[in-house]
Amino acid sequence: MRVLVAGSHGKIGRRLVGLLAEHGYRPVAMIRDPEQAAELRDLGGEPLVANLEGDLEAVTEGCDAVVYTAGGGAGSGAAKKETVDRQGAEKLIESALRHGVGRFVIVSSMGADAPDEGPEQMRPYYAAKRAADDALAASGLDYTIVRPGQLTDEPGDGRVSAALSLGRSGQVSRGDVAAVLVACLGDGRTVARPSSCSTATPRSARHWRACDSGGRRARTGRSAGGSRGRPYQRRRLPDRRLPDRAA
Ligand code: NAP
Repeated sequence: MRVLVAGSHGKIGRRLVGLLAEHGYRPVAMIRDPEQAAELRDLGGEPLVANLEGDLEAVTEGCDAVVYTAGGGAGSGAAKKETVDRQGAEKLIESALRHGVGRFVIVSSMGADAPDEGPEQMRPYYAAKRAADDALAASGLDYTIVRPGQLTDEPGDGRVSAALSLGRSGQVSRGDVAAVLVACLGDGRTVARPSSCSTATPRSARHWRACDSGGRRARTGRSAGGSRGRPYQRRRLPDRRLPDRAA
């Protein structure tokens, strides 16, 4: 399964490319700087040079899925939120539709559900994320919107809380978010499910749990790589394994 990763050289992106390759996917690593190609190749990716602010018409050709984990960056202004976080995602969605790519997973953000309620300086970011989410939800693609809380660089411990709404903010490691993205690709029950995730807490009523042992999918050795298209049936994600621990 060829998976285009937009933002592949980012902090989540590099973890994701490595995890995808480990789990038997063929990650196509979109980068805008050709000098990043060797690093992505070493992680198991197939580099593809393209700029989210440019023409994306052909980039999804031959791919089965897209994961969008790019972003204008914390230091960028409102204009970048618009051209990268929003329009970049929208152009990729259009490209995916044109080339018959069935599956699209997007990294959004906590706060995107209610942009006007966020702190003033965050509103352009949340609004851009929300617009991209809405475009994806309306696209007809099999989509999953992942809205992480504040990202950290701690090693992931393989445990996150995930729910349609967690009802609280929180942090989550980039390694765990990468693992969630791989899990989403491999599990049809996550299709068309906007959700939030942050680190698990023992008292979390609805957590999406990863642990070290047990679990039918993990014993396959390709826990996130093989299955897809299992129809979504339940409103609640059951306790289940993430594909791997990712540093
Ligand atoms: P990151 O390290 O800043 O990576 C972002 C990636 O996007 C980089 O690889 C960057 O490429 C790429 N990019 C930016 N503009 C581009 C363009 N015009 N064309 C092609 N690629 C472009 O971000 P991260 O920490 O991995 O976060 C990933 C996602 O999580 C983002 O969507 C972010 O909005 C979201 N998020 C972040 C937080 C947080 O706490 N920071 C919370 C929730 C959600 P270069 O390597 O060339 O710069």
